[in-house]
Amino acid sequence: TTADAASPAVACQTAARTLASATADLPFALLYLFDAPGPSATLAGSSGLRAQPPATGPREPTSLRGPTAPIAAQPLAEAAQAGAPLPISQLAALCGDAIAQRLSPEIASAFALPIAQPGPAASHQAQGVLLVGLNPRRAFDEQYHEFSVMVASQIAAALTNARAREEERARAEALAALDRAPNTRAEAPVMPGARILLADDNADMRDELARLLTAQGWHVTAVGDGAAALASAQAHPPDLMLSDVMMPSLDGVALLRALRAAPHTRGVPIILVSARAGEEATIEGLEAGADDYLIKPFSARELVARVRAHLTLAQLKREATERASQLEAIIEAMSDGVFVYDSDGNVVHTNSALREILAIDEAYLALPMSERVQLIDMRDAHSQPFLDDEWLLPRTLRGEIVRGAHAAEQHVRTLDGRQLVLSTTGGPVRDPTGEIVGAVAVLRDVTKRRQLDRRTHAALNALLAMASAVVEAPSDTPSDDAQRAARTQTAATRITDLTCEVLGCQRVAIVAFDPESGQIRLVAISGAMGEQQQKLDTALAHADMHTYLEPNEIAALFAGQVITLDLTRSPTHKIAFGGTLAVLAPMCIGERLIGVVGADFGLGAHDYTSEELAITGGIAKLAALILERDRLWRERARAEARTMALEEANRQMSEFLGIAGHELRTPLTVIKANIQLLAKRARRDATAGADISEARAATLLPRTERQIDRLTRLVGDLVDVSRIQKGKLELQPEPCDLTAILRETVEEQRMTHAERTIRLRLPRAAHAPVLADHDRIGQVITNFITNALKYSPADRPVQVGMTLGAHSARVSVRDHGPGIPEAERARVWELFYRVRGIEVQSGSGVGLGLGLYICATILARHHARFGVESAVGQGSTFWFSLPLQRETPE
Ligand code: ADP
Repeated sequence: TTADAASPAVACQTAARTLASATADLPFALLYLFDAPGPSATLAGSSGLRAQPPATGPREPTSLRGPTAPIAAQPLAEAAQAGAPLPISQLAALCGDAIAQRLSPEIASAFALPIAQPGPAASHQAQGVLLVGLNPRRAFDEQYHEFSVMVASQIAAALTNARAREEERARAEALAALDRAPNTRAEAPVMPGARILLADDNADMRDELARLLTAQGWHVTAVGDGAAALASAQAHPPDLMLSDVMMPSLDGVALLRALRAAPHTRGVPIILVSARAGEEATIEGLEAGADDYLIKPFSARELVARVRAHLTLAQLKREATERASQLEAIIEAMSDGVFVYDSDGNVVHTNSALREILAIDEAYLALPMSERVQLIDMRDAHSQPFLDDEWLLPRTLRGEIVRGAHAAEQHVRTLDGRQLVLSTTGGPVRDPTGEIVGAVAVLRDVTKRRQLDRRTHAALNALLAMASAVVEAPSDTPSDDAQRAARTQTAATRITDLTCEVLGCQRVAIVAFDPESGQIRLVAISGAMGEQQQKLDTALAHADMHTYLEPNEIAALFAGQVITLDLTRSPTHKIAFGGTLAVLAPMCIGERLIGVVGADFGLGAHDYTSEELAITGGIAKLAALILERDRLWRERARAEARTMALEEANRQMSEFLGIAGHELRTPLTVIKANIQLLAKRARRDATAGADISEARAATLLPRTERQIDRLTRLVGDLVDVSRIQKGKLELQPEPCDLTAILRETVEEQRMTHAERTIRLRLPRAAHAPVLADHDRIGQVITNFITNALKYSPADRPVQVGMTLGAHSARVSVRDHGPGIPEAERARVWELFYRVRGIEVQSGSGVGLGLGLYICATILARHHARFGVESAVGQGSTFWFSLPLQRETPE
């Protein structure tokens, strides 16, 4: 029904005629075409309209009767799109009463259809609308609807064809005009300056072609035969070659083959020109690799068009090749692995980063998808194997773009056995029509990052645990030194072990600095073996922090910074530490630098990440707290000891006061009693008229005198202690004879203690000249002897002796008393100190703990050496030795 019409108008008229013969199905039809561009439509053809009422105006041709004034396009298009029958009243509103009046009154409704080729965008491309009346005697069922649609689409096809023919004609006319004026360059030049090699043995033809091509802005090299053409092309490959087929020496086809065989002329576009018409020649040329074939005679226009087309094509090919190699270079330069797949999931391209990451080869890549997945044991983020269509490739082949937050994590085992975590992204590759023709996947190796994340996480947890261990039970002070030291050691070693573990390093040490001397002490170390540990011990033993650190490094540590230390920077460092690069983190308590935590990775190269530095810094802070806790424990223990000493001193003092009071009162009571007794007797004797008898006085007075002596001694000792403590004990050293002092003192004691045996043993040499305070040295000897008498049984002798050395004289007093336990020996010289369990054994005196304190002070002031030797149960020997004075000749 729709032959090719020469123009849309003709096509519409043809359509109207056809519709007029189908009034049984479509009682009337109105064909409106949109006036593009514009919002109106014009009636281009109609059928089945009744004749104009006779009264109105002249008759018009049946097919185009009625008003043809444009109507609004929009309501028409909307009616067509609604897809439902319209009542005639609505039709009247659309097209005007003039049309409605001419419809058969039997017809109740019409249907609007878009004039468009069938297809997805039909309504947008509609060229117009066909309004068809519906036969009131037929149901408007699907079949009826389809028939109407088919009619509309046939009209659309006819219109499209007509438009195409019209355009073609216009183009042909334009070309003809160009052909008539070949020197005008109507179109923009294609590749101006392109070099064209022209080979033709006919000089006229050659000149004509050269003139034509040159006029297009191309450089033409014209040669007369095939051999010359080949030589020129080989020397300087042209952008295009135009060659006659029939030439002497080397014909066009042979030339073509020669050019195709050489690598740098292989890609030159070649157009063959021949007078030989017919299939055979064409096929021969094309088979030999010609890009195109021109048969003489041809128009100039045709020649130029072909040359243009092939130059453009060659240029596009070059650009495409360039883009492809750019893309290739980009992919190759990426550090991420790249897979390019075809639509079946076969690998068509990879980059070297990918082959390195997965350690795969061509054989692997040639395997089908499922086997590839199995071979690398690909699993998801939870280490579960992927379901068949869940992993990246099937998803992208289904059109999904996998990236950003949706990037997939894959766990794989490489062919050389490494376990990797890959972050994968990818998407489909589509052809220009939007069809998926493949996919790309980009793999990033995030194994190290994940490990680091995990380690950092573990480290922080561990640090937290350690920190709470440090602060827990703060009042729980270990009771003794050994327990405290053990606890600190355990905590420190736990820290170094832990650090080794979380940093994955080889050695970790905690080193403490002595704040005064700056000396180094190794508190704890993990990861160092026997010999290395010993080397480190010796290296640190006689070192301070300046031995291994530069002043700026020490300053950085004091400022709380974590530093790295090149362990290979000097032979000293190499011998002491081994290893290559250590990290040192300061242990600071406030402003004090109390040590460092050092870690190293042994001999392998290692770049410390900022996380590792931060972790080491945190560990050092913790270690500092532990050492500080240890120091505070020690301080506290010392303070407690001091408190105890103070309490002991107080106790001794009050005990002393009690005893002293008693000691002072006793002699006074005795003296008072004796005097009262003497007074009473004197009164009685006076009453009796007699004098106090000599005999009575003789017994009472010496007793009184002894008590007074005892009181005097006691008061004398108190005065001495007071002087010593005020620093006012004054000595009067003078040359004197120690032998003489010894003799006098022993004699005195023998008189006072007539009941006791006191032996004296002196060297044969008569003199022991010393520079000494005569009375004070005598006081010391007296004290030694009275103690010996006091603390030994009355029936045992006391031995006093002197020996002379080359430079000194040694005096000793030996008793057979209880002896003094070793731990107490040094303390007997302290003020108020009395050995528990040693009782006064003879005589009436009590111990106050003053005597030996005074002795020690006097002896020290004489630069004498002194001491006590003793064996429990056997007795004691108190001794001192004074330097001998050289005898000065008179
Ligand atoms: P006092 O004898 O008045 O207590 P001292 O200072 O002379 O004071 O002596 C201090 C303590 O040393 C005595 O209390 C006694 O416990 C002990 N001591 C001194 N001499 C002897 C000795 N010869 N044998 C045993 N213990 C002694």
